[in-house]
Amino acid sequence: MSTLEIKGLRAAVGDKEILKGIDLTVRSGEVHAIMGPNGAGKSTLSAVIMGKPGYTVLGGTVTLDGEDMLALPTWQRAVRGLHLVMQYPTEVPGVHVDEVLVEALAARGRDTAALAGIIDAEARRINFDPELVTRALNVDLSGGEKKRNETLQLGVLEPRIAILDELDSGLDIDALRDCARRVEAATHENNLGVLAITHYVRLLEELKPDVVHILSDGRIVKTGGSELADTLERDGYAAFV
Ligand code: ADP
Ligand code: MG
Repeated sequence: MSTLEIKGLRAAVGDKEILKGIDLTVRSGEVHAIMGPNGAGKSTLSAVIMGKPGYTVLGGTVTLDGEDMLALPTWQRAVRGLHLVMQYPTEVPGVHVDEVLVEALAARGRDTAALAGIIDAEARRINFDPELVTRALNVDLSGGEKKRNETLQLGVLEPRIAILDELDSGLDIDALRDCARRVEAATHENNLGVLAITHYVRLLEELKPDVVHILSDGRIVKTGGSELADTLERDGYAAFV
């Protein structure tokens, strides 16, 4: 059982305050959706949780099972069990996915002997061509292939808490369903906790959020159940921002 706890989190880019006090708790097995207009700070929140350079934390805390994440470099946050699927996965020429996974598992003290078989099984689960795993990370992959690639890594690494920054952006309907179902399965099989940033109910139909938050201008302005996503789909953000 793991708990990602965010309390009073404030963060800036340069001298512009973007996150203005975020309180959020995600536990194992729970799916929390974050919805909100463009520029609300959704990607900033994911970046600050993972420790992406360029952001200044002005106040508040981020802990995983009581341990201060903000004090750790990004790779150690990942080793502790935080995993980010980026909105725009980075292309890394010359580095292959299987090599990345060997290093990542080794950093977690996990055995890599069976990795090839695990990668193959994970690829099949999401209809990802296993051949693409031997290519340079995300280089020359389509939008859908990149997100399948990211989802495969999530499946192999078995993080405690996954942050999905618009998993649905750049995906066709089939890829969206394959990736979202894999993440949803992990919430049962591995008790994965999920923080899913999205604009679209289509993703949430697969991911089945327990809680939906609306983020606007750096603050969570409304929290509700999955019906809140349907309200947004119907009426837009106007009533909440
Ligand atoms: P969202 O993901 O909700 O659309 P973002 O977190 O990407 O919003 O951005 C929130 C605000 O912060 C925007 O006004 C954006 O321009 C600004 N911002 C985010 N990252 C940077 C950055 N690296 N440099 C300058 N401004 C940034
Ligand atoms: Mg964003």
